[in-house]
Amino acid sequence: MSWARSFNTATVVGSVRRQAPITLATRRSLVHTTATAIPKDLRYDVVVIGGGHAGCEAAAAAARTGARTALVTQKLETIGEMSCNPSFGGVGKGILLREVDALGGVAPTICDRAGIHFRVLNRSKGPAVWGPRAQIDRSIYRSEMQQHMASQPNLDLIAAAVEDITVNGDHQVTGVALGNGQIIGTRAVVVTTGTFLRGVINIGAYFTPAGRKGEGPSVGLAQTLETFGFKLGRLRTGTPPRIKKSTVCFDGLLEQPSDYPATPFSYLNERVALEDSFIQCHLTHTNSAAHQLVHDTLHENNHVRQDALGPRYCPSIESKANRHQVWLEPEGLDSDVIYPNGISMTMPEEAQLRFVRSIAGLENAQITQLGYGVSYDFVDPRQLHRTLETKMIHSLFLAGQINGTTGYEEAASQGIIAGINAALKVRGEPSFTVDRTQAYIGVLIDDLVTKGVLEPYRMFTSRAEYRLSLRSDNADTRLTALGHACGAVDEPRFQHFCQQQKELAELTQLLESVELTPHEWNSGGWYNSLRCGLLKPCSVASMMAFGFVSDSTAADLVPALRSFNPRLVERVKIEAMYAHMMNRQRASAESYRRQASLEIPPGFAFEKVHSLPLEALERLREHAPRTIGDAAQIQGITPDALARLVRALQS
Ligand SMILES: Cc1cc2nc3c(=O)[nH]c(=O)nc-3n(C[C@H](O)[C@H](O)[C@H](O)COP(=O)(O)OP(=O)(O)OC[C@H]3O[C@@H](n4cnc5c(N)ncnc54)[C@H](O)[C@@H]3O)c2cc1C
Repeated sequence: MSWARSFNTATVVGSVRRQAPITLATRRSLVHTTATAIPKDLRYDVVVIGGGHAGCEAAAAAARTGARTALVTQKLETIGEMSCNPSFGGVGKGILLREVDALGGVAPTICDRAGIHFRVLNRSKGPAVWGPRAQIDRSIYRSEMQQHMASQPNLDLIAAAVEDITVNGDHQVTGVALGNGQIIGTRAVVVTTGTFLRGVINIGAYFTPAGRKGEGPSVGLAQTLETFGFKLGRLRTGTPPRIKKSTVCFDGLLEQPSDYPATPFSYLNERVALEDSFIQCHLTHTNSAAHQLVHDTLHENNHVRQDALGPRYCPSIESKANRHQVWLEPEGLDSDVIYPNGISMTMPEEAQLRFVRSIAGLENAQITQLGYGVSYDFVDPRQLHRTLETKMIHSLFLAGQINGTTGYEEAASQGIIAGINAALKVRGEPSFTVDRTQAYIGVLIDDLVTKGVLEPYRMFTSRAEYRLSLRSDNADTRLTALGHACGAVDEPRFQHFCQQQKELAELTQLLESVELTPHEWNSGGWYNSLRCGLLKPCSVASMMAFGFVSDSTAADLVPALRSFNPRLVERVKIEAMYAHMMNRQRASAESYRRQASLEIPPGFAFEKVHSLPLEALERLREHAPRTIGDAAQIQGITPDALARLVRALQS
């Protein structure tokens, strides 16, 4: 059994639940809990500002990639805090998380230790759009993340608010300035301040400056970015009231059990840690009385009257007109708090309680924390390269909600790319990027840096042109070797990956090599080929892929199949299912990649491109794309304009 498979559930359950946030006994890194204790001459290769989901991935990735790194965050005890929903993954987002894992990221393994309810969404559809998702125990996640960060070699944790970033005359980052004026020297900075830049939270008619409930906003850093000349915008989001679980009546509500056994997020894990303690979620609905209440209190609800745009795909109750679902999701194994998914709101306090109590099952509910909204500054991500380094300031990287995205997975995905690139830059090594054909992370970053955002950006499978090949089952095949080559994937993970790839290749060969004619399928009693219109010889792999023979029938034909891990068998079936389409998609991706990488020289005279429409000319001048791939993503650049540009470049 490999090291990764020796995952001992019983031990993990115990240790997970007993852990204190950061213990001196287990930490390997330097931990400064107050700014005053920080030595004067501290210097790092990379400083990451912010200990949220982008910051944790960035700091861990930079450290893994060989940079001496510091994570500077306002409070160590909020490292890994889930600001809103206690869940990770979902459609599109789950694939992002698998990709973060494939690059050696931290969040997926921690989800496997803290998850209390797992489901693969879209199971009834094709595997290309399956969305692994898990309910997470909020406090176990936070504690596990803090533990991981504290024991990450090459990484120090510092509790302080950064107020400024220092640069030299060449626009090169030189350090970060803390609130007490102290400077920490560094060669690269990754800013991951989430919703904190000039954050203001809002309930009813009341506003309070805050990045998140109970935590101050980051004003100095917003001013710094403005002074550097970055274009900032304003966005908003919100969170629902939390409900005391013991006041909910679950009788008559639809139960939603977890998948069992659960599909782990990490390729390293066969099982998840807490599967013996899985919880149930329940479904209830809003009704017309509740929506009338929303309507009646709109005049007292400032958040929804702001100009800043909120998340279209995670909307507040104020923007939903009709009866809709409310999932009652426990926040943890030992928690008496329910997260009512679907009713994010900013109504006044008294209206929130009336709204909640109008819902079936919540008639006597008590609210433990009011729903609230937050509006915040974000940086227009078109000012970034694909490495997430800013175009204006050298070695300054931005990742997460600061770039206009929403969601933990989007934040983690950007964090890992920014962290790897910050480390590579200080080491003088080539940068690391992935494109739209390789990963959802590539789609996310490509969309951000070329199209920018008008509203909080979240990931969907529909955003990915190559989604048949960008699946949750094969993120390791797509990314782990690339991550290892740039130093972000450690040796044990890489060896585990190589072993799995070897077994996958053997299994594929085994199942494809046994091919029967339609007559043989019939006469052996394996399958009535007339029922599926089989006209040509067909391999066991293909027959399994399309569900024409079961795994056990296949094992009768190919007995060696029984010695393989069922998860690998599943992967081979999925590959076989998409084989024909994949060949076409691979060819199309190859031609896209060739053309997309065609470089546009700096200062290229777009006006000389024959018959280029005026709108395209203006957009190209404004965005100054570096490649045809960049140009293709600019809004208003038609295929015709692109073809003219390609011809001009090639001539
Ligand atoms: C009220 C609310 C509602 C939300 N609703 C949704 C939703 O419905 N759907 C959804 O997908 N997502 C939602 N989110 C967003 C989700 O929480 C974020 O997308 C995600 O947490 C972003 O991760 P991040 O790492 O970019 O930032 P965060 O997780 O916000 O982390 C930022 C970190 O930076 C630190 N920090 C800030 N300023 C400084 C400074 N100057 N110096 C040092 N440290 C600093 C903070 O302490 C914090 O640790 C919501 C967030 C909030 C606050």
